[in-house]
Amino acid sequence: MTALAQTSPYPIALDIVGAEGCHLHTRDGRLYLDLVAGLAVNNVGHRHPKVVSAIKDQADQYLHVIPYGEFIQEPQVRFAAALTGLLPEGLDSVYFVNSGTEANEAALKLAKRITGRTKLVACHRSYHGSTHGSLSITGNEEKKYRNRPLLPDVHFITFNSVEDLAFIDARTAAVVVEPVQGDAGVRIPDREWMLALRQRCDGTGALLIFDEVQTGFGRTGQRFAFEHFGVVPDILVLGKALGGGMPMGAFVSSQERMGLLTHNPVLGHITTFGGHPVVCAAGLAALQVLEAEKLAENAEHMGRLFKELLIHPRIQEVRGMGLMLAVDLGDADTVQRVVMGCLKRGVLGFWFLSCPTAFRIAPPLCITEDLVREACAAILAELEGGT
Ligand code: PLP
Repeated sequence: MTALAQTSPYPIALDIVGAEGCHLHTRDGRLYLDLVAGLAVNNVGHRHPKVVSAIKDQADQYLHVIPYGEFIQEPQVRFAAALTGLLPEGLDSVYFVNSGTEANEAALKLAKRITGRTKLVACHRSYHGSTHGSLSITGNEEKKYRNRPLLPDVHFITFNSVEDLAFIDARTAAVVVEPVQGDAGVRIPDREWMLALRQRCDGTGALLIFDEVQTGFGRTGQRFAFEHFGVVPDILVLGKALGGGMPMGAFVSSQERMGLLTHNPVLGHITTFGGHPVVCAAGLAALQVLEAEKLAENAEHMGRLFKELLIHPRIQEVRGMGLMLAVDLGDADTVQRVVMGCLKRGVLGFWFLSCPTAFRIAPPLCITEDLVREACAAILAELEGGT
């Protein structure tokens, strides 16, 4: 493993040989119940047969043929039509890229193009990605301080603070918000705040960007988290589950706004691999599975079951919506003990970037009642002292 760069000094290092549905198989013959889903990626489960078959079919036709936007590639066209068919008015044009962070970068560029302004507003404790622009709007100083200078004119507000909305003004190009903050430890805003945020953006001419990289595709119990609040963004940023287990990001806005990328300069945003035909085929199949198997609804039901079952004096709170949950134990040492103890029991949970007192539950959305009960039994046994 020495030739492979690492970013964690303590990787879990499960040696994966297979994955299916809600389970991972390791080389030593063990089976793990996956409560992480590749960090909110495998919403339809690992290797869903329809996704695998779409990948194989497309691989039999063509792989990469040209950078984005030059040829007509049916998988892109079909996926964009299916996706926008599920989105409200004003979100009818999709640009496919390769990752969540890249989608955020492009959304920031588009917002500057549309408004002619430079000021960006984002939230404390947010996470938007690891490249320079996305890192600039990420509200986690620990991840940023070694990488300065970052983008100028970025201002942070407190998530869910009505008072702080005053920082959004007529100089603001865009406000970037996760409708439910993920790596902050799953934070849900008040509906009133979301409505006030939308109003403030409308009043100042700032664009509202929702980063739904983590919350999208049924994760919170609705197709997209913004649906819980009845607030539609000007630009929607997608990633993770979008590609059905393949790498993909996208930003979505109106045809009129996206049209700006075609002129002055032409090729206003370009990518070699964005909208790769195999990835689009996988994404479309995953979207169809999400709808046909009503996985957002299942996320809602199974999320409720987790909350009902995870009752213990050591659990301070189970926060979240659908299957985007944070189990807050109040201290980082207990989180470490429980996550590692569950791993020994064959149940994979995970940490958050900016919330050491809680661990994450975000399984594939196809998880069944029996598997939820199995996962909770392991967590509760660990909380009882690991016996
Ligand atoms: N935005 C949010 C809300 C995320 O949770 C993440 C990744 O965790 C990103 C952006 C970055 O996505 P990617 O890792 O695909 O660049």
